[in-house]
Amino acid sequence: MRATVMYGAGDVRVESVPDPRLTEPTDALVAVNRAAICGSDLWPYRTLEHSDTGRRMGHEAIGVVEAVGTDVGTINVGDVVIMPFAYSDGTCIFCREGLHTSCIHGGFFGTGEADGAQAEAVRVPQADGTLVVLPVGFDDALMPSLLTLTDVMGTGHHAAVAAKVGPGKTVAVVAVGLCGVLAARRLGAEQIIILGRHPDRIALAKEFGATDVVSERGEEAVERVREITDGFGVHSVLECVGLEQSVLTALCIARPGGAVGRVGVPQDETIPASRPAFHNNVTLSGGPAPVRAYIEELLPDVLEGRIDPGHVFDRVVSLDEVPDGYRAMNDREAIKVMIEV
Ligand SMILES: [Zn+2]
Repeated sequence: MRATVMYGAGDVRVESVPDPRLTEPTDALVAVNRAAICGSDLWPYRTLEHSDTGRRMGHEAIGVVEAVGTDVGTINVGDVVIMPFAYSDGTCIFCREGLHTSCIHGGFFGTGEADGAQAEAVRVPQADGTLVVLPVGFDDALMPSLLTLTDVMGTGHHAAVAAKVGPGKTVAVVAVGLCGVLAARRLGAEQIIILGRHPDRIALAKEFGATDVVSERGEEAVERVREITDGFGVHSVLECVGLEQSVLTALCIARPGGAVGRVGVPQDETIPASRPAFHNNVTLSGGPAPVRAYIEELLPDVLEGRIDPGHVFDRVVSLDEVPDGYRAMNDREAIKVMIEV
């Protein structure tokens, strides 16, 4: 089959690889119909050291089940399924607490644990716990929005939950995490301030419910957010970047007693602004989103048209065009790229 392999920074190839097969009785094989390129795929795209074996990329997919292992009970051949970026058994102590990304039998697609989904097919470990059967077919107009439930919409929701967003709250989103804006609006936020500069993202953020834009950076951004929040800062901050500067800004724009929910993978070992965060009793929470737990909560809102996160996809490519999709996202020509396999 054909699959996406990253050999090093800027070096993405689509090439023939061995067909995936069932290796555990709890596995399923899924023929991929839609996949996506993630903002987090851009970190290795910029920094991955060259290797001769490469890394199989992709962790967001919708497809049809082609085969199941002997221990798979709830997923059947022919089911149209959605695959979250992490696999999980759904039954361990952490899955039962809704923290599927810490599943003791779990792991992540597009890593050494499981191959990537920017491919014609993918082996899905722990199929019963991981996959969710969709009640619609591939021709459905909602496919782009459903695809966001594999990662970005669940991740935005997680940031909002970790930041304790609720009715009437003031929220800031660093930096234009679009699904974070949508999630904050869905949870009843009254004011949603986005921090960022990219015109296309700002336009979409406004469509998703952002009320204010702050384009300053650093201390000026902190001052500006305080200005438009009666001098105190916001109740909830969604940190969607992971760089030291954005975490610092996030912690400094939270008002006393506020909370920062971070979903940007930290690029540093330490957390800045420890002292002001302490003095202001600011909660810092978040991590890899247990999107499997959120699919059930968010799916009805997508199916019934209350949220339309699929608008984040502003480019569609074929599998062979995936390398150009990476380039377009990295060059900020595209916000997010959907792959039609
Ligand atoms: Zn588990």
